Amino acid sequence: MKSYELQSGDHMPALGLGTWQAEPGEVGRAVREAIRIGYRHFDCAPAYRNEAEIGAALNAAIGDGEVSREELWITSKLWNSDHLRDDVKPALEKTLADLQTHYLDLYLVHWPIAFKPGIDFPTGPEDYLSLEEAPLAATWAGMEEVLEAGLCRNIGVSNFTESKINRLLEAGQQMPAVNQIELHPLFQQKDLLQWCGNHGIVLTAYSPLGSGGRPEEMRNPDEPRPLEHPVIRKIASKHDFGPAQVLISWAIQRGTSVIPKAVRDEHLRANFEAAGLELDDEDMAAINALDNEEPGSQERIVTGDFFCPPGSPYTTAWLWA
Ligand code: NAP
Repeated sequence: MKSYELQSGDHMPALGLGTWQAEPGEVGRAVREAIRIGYRHFDCAPAYRNEAEIGAALNAAIGDGEVSREELWITSKLWNSDHLRDDVKPALEKTLADLQTHYLDLYLVHWPIAFKPGIDFPTGPEDYLSLEEAPLAATWAGMEEVLEAGLCRNIGVSNFTESKINRLLEAGQQMPAVNQIELHPLFQQKDLLQWCGNHGIVLTAYSPLGSGGRPEEMRNPDEPRPLEHPVIRKIASKHDFGPAQVLISWAIQRGTSVIPKAVRDEHLRANFEAAGLELDDEDMAAINALDNEEPGSQERIVTGDFFCPPGSPYTTAWLWA
């Protein structure tokens, strides 16, 4: 399995298992099966409300001698309700208890957006903290503290643009090791990929298959559907790969880590196998050319607009600026 060396010298496996919307009652079984298949990288978050079940599965696999903790790469994320500097450590300690581990390999700030402590998801503008009340630099100082304390081995961000990472750097702070963002052939973010590469930040691609597991009523008819794109399907049939395998292979070949979510055994196996497949130069060029091919169509799947209702201190224009 290809891996990426982070600034610490640690190696993050290129392929990981996403766990958002992996339902309680099925996620533990999927994690056990993934370990048997060969997955070592798991992408978690308290916001996914399944860390305790994942922790039980990881711990059982370690107990049964299928894998050691040192062979695993476990990522989790700081939720928006814990952005105040002194709240970072207790939040991470809760995640560590749920995941049944003494340290994380990678801890990310999930979003550059803050809620009041104790708010899982805002129901009105009064539930948010503004950037003046919860500055990103203060949250990041809390992240540096848990790194220093040894509760995690690397720290990074998610859903951060270049300007937001620059805010941290201007405050004289440590460079994030990783930025986890939406990336797929219909939303390639080439400028951010290049900028992060120049600054030693590894990108992790989320929703790499188009996040099609969400209920249809949550999906937008105009949202990108990379699995269904004719160019992806054509390349898949040329090599006798599945379309998802083309998307995963492309993500790794362009130098990003990738975390497709799957709970079905056939998906888990196909996606793992994809990390070892190769696309040729012609395939890569055809996929690279797909970016933003339909002006006016919705660019992102995960727009963040749910954090930006009227009265919220945040807007999508600010979020992605
Ligand atoms: P995704 O990985 O793009 O798509 C998941 C869907 O694709 C599921 O319905 C899954 O089905 C299906 N699938 C998996 N393998 C397949 C295959 N080989 N062929 C056909 N369909 C396949 O969606 P995602 O969950 O949005 O993104 C992946 C992960 O990124 C998340 O789980 C989470 O860990 C992370 N993420 C992070 C953020 C963030 O803000 N940092 C946001 C979004 C996602 P089954 O599950 O039924 O097998």
